Amino acid sequence: MAGGRGSRMGGVDKGLQAFRGSTMVQHVLARLQPQVGTLLINANQNLARYAQLGWPVRADDIAGFAGPLAGLQVGLRHCATPYLALVPCDSPCLPPDLVERLAAALDEHGADLASVVTGTDATRQSQSVFCLLKVGLRAQLEAYLQQGGRRLESWFATLNAVTVHFDDETAFSNINTLEQLQALDAAPARGLHEILAGIADYDADAVPVALARRIIAEFGEPVAEQELLPILDALGRVLAEDIVSPIDVPAHDNSAMDGYALRSADLAAGGAVLQVVGSAYAGHPYGGEVEAGQCVRIMTGAVLPAACDTVIAQENVALADGRVSIAAGAVAAGENRRFRGEDLAAGSLALKRGKRLRPADIGLLASLGVGQVAVWRRLRVAFFSTGDELRSLGEALPEGCVYDSNRYTLHCMLERLGCELLDMGVVKDDRLLLENALRRAAESADVVITSGGVSVGAADYTKQLAASLGQCAFWSLTMRPGRPLAFGSIESGGRRALLFGLPGNPVAVMVSFYFFARQALLRLMGEHAADLPLVRVRAAQAIAKRPGRTEYQRGIVSPDGDGQLQVALTGAQGSGILSSMAAANCIVVLHEEQAAVRVGDMVEVLLFDGLV
Ligand code: AMP
Ligand code: MG
Repeated sequence: MAGGRGSRMGGVDKGLQAFRGSTMVQHVLARLQPQVGTLLINANQNLARYAQLGWPVRADDIAGFAGPLAGLQVGLRHCATPYLALVPCDSPCLPPDLVERLAAALDEHGADLASVVTGTDATRQSQSVFCLLKVGLRAQLEAYLQQGGRRLESWFATLNAVTVHFDDETAFSNINTLEQLQALDAAPARGLHEILAGIADYDADAVPVALARRIIAEFGEPVAEQELLPILDALGRVLAEDIVSPIDVPAHDNSAMDGYALRSADLAAGGAVLQVVGSAYAGHPYGGEVEAGQCVRIMTGAVLPAACDTVIAQENVALADGRVSIAAGAVAAGENRRFRGEDLAAGSLALKRGKRLRPADIGLLASLGVGQVAVWRRLRVAFFSTGDELRSLGEALPEGCVYDSNRYTLHCMLERLGCELLDMGVVKDDRLLLENALRRAAESADVVITSGGVSVGAADYTKQLAASLGQCAFWSLTMRPGRPLAFGSIESGGRRALLFGLPGNPVAVMVSFYFFARQALLRLMGEHAADLPLVRVRAAQAIAKRPGRTEYQRGIVSPDGDGQLQVALTGAQGSGILSSMAAANCIVVLHEEQAAVRVGDMVEVLLFDGLV
């Protein structure tokens, strides 16, 4: 919602105000994008500048800056999904779980609309512009507006609506004056203490998965340095700039077929006979004029002569004596014509900052003639294993010892994310050695990942050290496997690194990496990524589960014979059994409140493989 006049900002549009290196609305979009399917910007001025952000932009249909309901009307009229979320453009700190929590409330109460409230009973404040509603409410809104209603909260009062309380009032503080904006811009990023202070009944020893993910989404700053790379070296890297197309692609109207380019005015009801006056090949345009009654032999990709607007495929004509005969109805006006700029128009946004570059993106850059791009520097991740029992490859394996596998798994998972790796080997269960390793890691890396030593055993020092060398947000989650999981930061030598203290069990390492560390790493790399999609499939077997904790189980998804997908577990689920992880092609996610799964129930899975 960027539809206001911005009069208290000296007439400058609020959403377009500079804020922390970009504009206010860009922060809002970046925070909202992972939470929703698609975005639409409602604005009533500076439409072209909003359009540069790469999302569709629509002005109010009601004239005269009629307020949020007019913006909501536009949203409902153009929403292709069953639900619409609404947020104002001046809320750059909005919560990363806003939509998820509003959706849960809609579900729980069978309501049509959920909106935010903050504060205590005494200081209760409606934050109505932050809401989620069913698109089916559109008719009701249209009727309300027709009667002259313009106030958001008055309309909400006529609906089956619920409110959701958010503890952290500052996440919703919107900005009305330039002074407020400058104050917020100058404030340091929020530390863990401030993030945790906003959470009621916080217990660092039993944090629910959803809350842990929310804390992780808030803490830590993305890398700030960029590098300029030739596009082939930029594959897998994260764009640090918007790429605006410098040219129209394609640069000319051209042919989609091998055939004959003609003037549609020549197509009479009874067909046509046209004289072939020349040819056009890809890279070799036809240089002459095409007069009425004439046509040009044309190849796919060749420039369409100026007077021509239609191409008929060569197999649909009869050629004799330099003339083509076209039967009635063999081609319609405008067919087989590719328009100049139909792929990308000059000046339009081709790729957004924060996008990880895949093969299609590199090809797109080449098609624009762009040879190098600015990307964020790689994220430096230091990692080591802890445990007196660990042996490295090549060493003998005395009784009671195991080979260190976590460092290899971590190495590979980090490499696939495109991190710069700092493998620090194995560290013994010794407080001093561990402290030294953590300090060295914090001094040289952006993120430190350890495995082992975070449970409650006598030799588990990581958690204590995290608390004394930095801050520790939590060390235990209500989940399985991987209950112990420390998250915080380590400070040393004036530098700070994010810390993930992963459990020691090899399966727990992978699960906690994929479901917790990954999202933080991507964000720190500068990527604006949506959460990994969970796919709903049928359970081919019963799965024991009790409510109150999240469980991640290894599974195999396969076709069930009816064109549907089903999932079975991969046998033994002990968190040390890496072979069953190797056999799996997905993780079954059994959510906190979920109870036992019966055969045939739908469950959510995270698939391992996709196009990479
Ligand atoms: P911990 O969290 O240190 O108590 O370790 C839990 C279990 O995971 C123990 O059985 C460890 O031997 C095992 N483990 C810890 N680190 C590794 C590692 N790097 N590679 C393989 N197994 C490990
Ligand atoms: Mg250990």
